[in-house]
Amino acid sequence: MHPDLEHLIQLQDLDLAVDRARRRIAELPAAQGTLEARLAARSGSVADVKERIAAAQTSRRDIEKELAAVQGRLSKYKGQLLELKTNKEYQAMQKEMTVAERDVRSHEDKLLEHMEHAEAFAAELKAAEAALKTEQGEVSRAQQALDAERAELERELQRVIAARAELVARLPREALMLFERVAHGRKGIAVAEARDGLCTLCHVRLRPQKFNEVRRNDGLHQCDSCTRILYFVPPPATGGAARPT
Ligand SMILES: [Zn+2]
Repeated sequence: MHPDLEHLIQLQDLDLAVDRARRRIAELPAAQGTLEARLAARSGSVADVKERIAAAQTSRRDIEKELAAVQGRLSKYKGQLLELKTNKEYQAMQKEMTVAERDVRSHEDKLLEHMEHAEAFAAELKAAEAALKTEQGEVSRAQQALDAERAELERELQRVIAARAELVARLPREALMLFERVAHGRKGIAVAEARDGLCTLCHVRLRPQKFNEVRRNDGLHQCDSCTRILYFVPPPATGGAARPT
């Protein structure tokens, strides 16, 4: 194969490798952001449960205060009961006490309900914290993998860029200019394989004369349609078996 053609094929491979590495590096911040969002969602769940627990505790303390007040009122009534003079006063006081006792029971019921909820809240908090811990472990491992990937991609990029510079230095100016010009007009792909009489990238059939030239791999031949520089991969040797013509 003509050395210029061989070098341009290598140059194309290096450019594609640079492109792949850069594209992947550009994707990494989004992957990082996804990990951070996962963690934030789990932390949010824990904070949410804690907030509800705090609200329930406030409400429970309010009920306890109200209960203490009602109980205070009730024991005051009981103390006053003995001092009452008339039956009428006595009945009125009994009525007050019945109301207060009902109030005590209703507050005690509410407290019982709170205690039951508190157990459910504690279980919910435990589950949310366990889920957060698991997520932290997974995210941390994924982050380490991302960091390692970034470092590897940057090493690879440096290696490929250095190899490209070395290759470019060995290429004749006209070959390099042809490559750059075609690559610029063809989304970075300046080189194409010709197979079965076709350009494999634009799929246009080559003139037989052109395909014969390309098959020799002895220089830089361009596709008449897409202008890419063509090369030919000879079929593997079949151990002396007759090849179909
Ligand atoms: Zn073509």
